Amino acid sequence: MNIKQITKKVYMSMPEERRDRPIVGIINGMKGVVYFDAGSSQKHAQEIITNAEKLGLSTPSYLIISHSHTDHWFGLIEYQAPSISSRTCKKRTEELARNDWGKTAYEKQVQEGHGSSFLAEILDEEYGKDRSFIALRTPEISFEDQLEIDLGDVTIHCQKINTNHSDDAIVMHIPEEKVLFLGDCLYLRTKSQTDVKKLFEQINPFNAEIFIDSHCPKIMNREEVEAYCMDYVKSLEE
Ligand SMILES: [Zn+2]
Repeated sequence: MNIKQITKKVYMSMPEERRDRPIVGIINGMKGVVYFDAGSSQKHAQEIITNAEKLGLSTPSYLIISHSHTDHWFGLIEYQAPSISSRTCKKRTEELARNDWGKTAYEKQVQEGHGSSFLAEILDEEYGKDRSFIALRTPEISFEDQLEIDLGDVTIHCQKINTNHSDDAIVMHIPEEKVLFLGDCLYLRTKSQTDVKKLFEQINPFNAEIFIDSHCPKIMNREEVEAYCMDYVKSLEE
């Protein structure tokens, strides 16, 4: 896993499909460093911290969690800085943190249809096969619709987004760098043409030239996001 510099102030760790590790965005501002997501496990977070250090990046001042899916925040416990999410995401992560993630308990949940066998395999790999406990931390600060952090030379603008991938999702915009972190918002669950069009209508107004999807190694420009959405719409035509 390496960390790539995208613009003067924006970096991202590369995603990994096999272990379902999403990107972590790093905004290196004059008055602090903001991370977008925390990594999918303690191991993933430790690798990001080590690699960011090698690039001379300071430890984060704040972490922003994109949504409540485990691959985006299970690594949070590795950091000291305060963490922020949408109010719904905060609530969902708190519910998830109360779950028993120990191997036997989680496998029982999978058998009973409440868990995912794919996630069980990933947890085996990230936390070891004999895990009895997974230490978790949930966001301390939450917001309803939007939040801004002034880092001096760059601004972090978080905006709640209406996507049925997850009802607690946000996107993060850095206007000065013209970058928009999309999280997983493009991965719609119930698919209708209206859902895709509505999603694009929310993304399109952002003044951005670089669009970063959390599981895609390739950054996109506006035309590519639009083409992706329009292809999606076409594929749903009867
Ligand atoms: Zn997700």
